This record gives sequence, structure tokens and C-alpha cells, in this order.
Amino acid sequence: MKQVAILGATGSIGASALDVIARHPQRYRASALTASRNVDALVALCQRFAPDLAVIAEESLEAALREKIAATGLPTRVSSGRQGLREAATQSSSEIVIAAIVGSAGLDSTLAAAHAGKRLLLANKEAVVMAGSLLFDALRASGGDLIPIDSEHNAIFQCLPNPRVDLARAGVRKVVLTASGGPFRGKARADLATVTPDQACAHPNWRMGRKISVDSATLMNKGLEVIEAHWLFGASAAQIEVVVHPQSIVHSLVEYADGSVLAQLGNPDMRTALAHALAWPDRVESGVAPLDLLAIGQLNFEAPDRQTFRCLDLAFKALVAGGTAPTTLNAANEVAVAAFLEGTLPFLAISELIEATLDFLPAAPASDLETLVYADLTARREAQRIMQRSFC
Ligand code: NAD
Ligand code: MG
Repeated sequence: MKQVAILGATGSIGASALDVIARHPQRYRASALTASRNVDALVALCQRFAPDLAVIAEESLEAALREKIAATGLPTRVSSGRQGLREAATQSSSEIVIAAIVGSAGLDSTLAAAHAGKRLLLANKEAVVMAGSLLFDALRASGGDLIPIDSEHNAIFQCLPNPRVDLARAGVRKVVLTASGGPFRGKARADLATVTPDQACAHPNWRMGRKISVDSATLMNKGLEVIEAHWLFGASAAQIEVVVHPQSIVHSLVEYADGSVLAQLGNPDMRTALAHALAWPDRVESGVAPLDLLAIGQLNFEAPDRQTFRCLDLAFKALVAGGTAPTTLNAANEVAVAAFLEGTLPFLAISELIEATLDFLPAAPASDLETLVYADLTARREAQRIMQRSFC
């Protein structure tokens, strides 16, 4: 029986993870569950999965969580805040930690799991964008390992001969990340001036949380994934290609020196990646419908529209610049997306604000967490300031 801690259990990835776990009660048990502020949703999950530990990130809600858990009669321990999240990420009974908190809020607990030598199932791409080098240093030092949950990276992982492969030795020429193109594929910039948060979140193929849905609409999601691929697989910017594939059936590809191209295909349902990563190197049932190629009929590929969706190139630029640049990119994006979702920033200003923040804060070397945390805070402050002055 494998004990699994789920950081971000009330989210979209959390729900998919728990769905897979519930299909295999003999193999997996949810040992810790965490949520941001939704006490009732967390209590409902605790009633269903009876974890050892439940954590609410918002400290002021710990008493409410404690009271409601006590009323259920469950023996589940209750904790809160950063300390509670760390506890969930490191508790000795858990072998596997699913990092599924959205945004930089997940960095601390993701790093804590890496330092604790866990098998880290990583969905929280912002953590690896901000601190990829530190994350892998921590895993190396602790003997932990990482299996990607992001569907593209999970696909690449499946197409490589082994997880820690040296790309040059393995004869890998490049990795190709597929992108659906999001809800605004085919639109010109002029079409996007007045789009609403709900339109941006109406993804054609995937049901996801609102932040990643907006990232998919701007193509920043693919930009973050380019940086994620760099850290996960050691691919240089020149070795990472992005291809738009509207059906989201081919989840990504690896091209080898002999001309072979390996791809992983499947229906767009995150339970495949979660089941793969939970069971690796075995395979287990995920609940995902079998792929019906005849019903799909066609698989199309096209170049991304880099003029309309400028975030993709901004991410490549930040990757090449290195140091604090990816952290700045991520922080400015989080500020911009939150403002867009609140209705205070127009869609097209998202990339403009990120670009202005990157221009204002040139990349600096970053080899420790303090520098990255400071870069994150600085970028948030500057992005807010630029937004007030120029975009609101
Ligand atoms: P979501 O918004 O549905 O869920 C986010 C989870 O994080 C929730 O449990 C929420 O309570 C928790 N959370 C939010 N803010 C927090 C905070 N400040 N402190 C502690 N916990 C907090 O998001 P999601 O779509 O499940 O995405 C989660 C992560 O997985 C993101 O990094 C996303 O990029 C990545 N991802 C998601 C998908 C997908 O299909 N949803 C696919 C690939 C990667
Ligand atoms: Mg993805």
C-alpha cells in the first residue's frame, strides 16, 4: 500500500488524483490532503478518504477545520499555514507527494517534499519555473525522484529510455511540446481586446483551474512548460520546439538522431498522467476512455501564432536569460492573470505587463532560495506598479 500526500487536493488535479486513487484501494491511500481556503470541500474529501492529516493553508480557518473534522469523528490531524503544508509534504508515512497547488504558493511545499526524499509527482509547474535548479539539487541530495504530471512532460518522460537520461547520450535531437492553441486559436490580436475571463477559461479540450486556463489562452502555459522541459530533461532552448495540435491527442514527442520520433497519445484527461506516475514503472487502470482513433479521424499540426500570443517568446527569452528571469516572468504573469480574472486588466495587457516587468528587471544570477524569493517579491511589486501606472 502506497501512502500519497496530495497538496492542492481540492483542485482540478487533486480531483483527478483522488479519482485514480479511489479506483485502487489496495494499492494507494490518500495520507494527507491540503486546500487553500475551502474548509467544506476539504472536510468532504476527508470524509471520503480518511487521511492522517488535513491542512488548510489559510491559518485563520484552522479552528473551523478542526471543529468540523472533530464533528465527523475522524482521527485526522489538522494543521494550517506554511508549516502545515510542509508537514503534509514531508510526513514520514507518505512515499509519494503530488504537488498540485497552483502558482508560486506551491514552491515551499514542493521544495520541502524534494528535500525529504519523496517521490514527487509534479503538477505545480510554477515551482520548477521559479527554482528548477534548487529543486533538482534537493532531489539529488535527498535521493528523491520526480515524475512529471503535466501531460506534455509526462509524455516526454514516457518517450525517453529512462528518466534521468542524458539527452546527448540517448541520441535525442529535440523534444516537441504540443499545445492545443487554447480557446482563442486562430484569432488576431484585434479580436482579443475585449475577451472576458469566462471566454478565456472555456478551454476546448481540458477542464482545469482558472489560472492555468488563462495561461493556456495566452500561450504562457506553453511558455512555462518550455522552461519546465528545460529543467526536467536538460533540454536547451534550441532543443525545445512547440507545435500547435488542436485535438490534444498527441501529448508531446521526442525526436531522435536516427529520425525516429516517439510520441505518447491518449485522450485529454489528466488521470492518464496521474495513473502513469502513481504506478510507474507499472501500469494501472485510470478510468480514462480508450483512445478511438477512427472517431478522431485526423490529427492536425500548425505553427504557434507568436505575434498574437507573445507570452511564448517571452518565456523563451526568460529561459535564455536565465538567473532570476524565469522567476520574474512567472511572478509578473501571476499578477497579470489575477488582475485579468478580477476584471481589472484587459487580456492583451497580460503579455504587455509581463514584457514591461522583464524589461524593468534585468536577469540577475540566482543560486539560492533567498535570491529567488526576493526576485519573486520584487517582480510582483514592480508588476503592480507598472500595471497601476500604464494599464488600469
Ligand atoms: P486549481 O485552481 O483547480 O487547484 C489549485 C489547488 O491549489 C486547490 O486545491 C487550491 O485550494 C490550492 N491552492 C490555491 N492557492 C493556494 C495557496 N495560496 N496555498 C495553498 N494552496 C493553494 O488548479 P489546477 O488546475 O488543479 O492546477 C494545479 C497545478 O497543476 C498548477 O500549477 C497547474 O499549472 C498544474 N497543471 C494543471 C493541469 C490541469 O489539467 N488542471 C494540467 C497540468 C498542470
Ligand atoms: Mg500541460
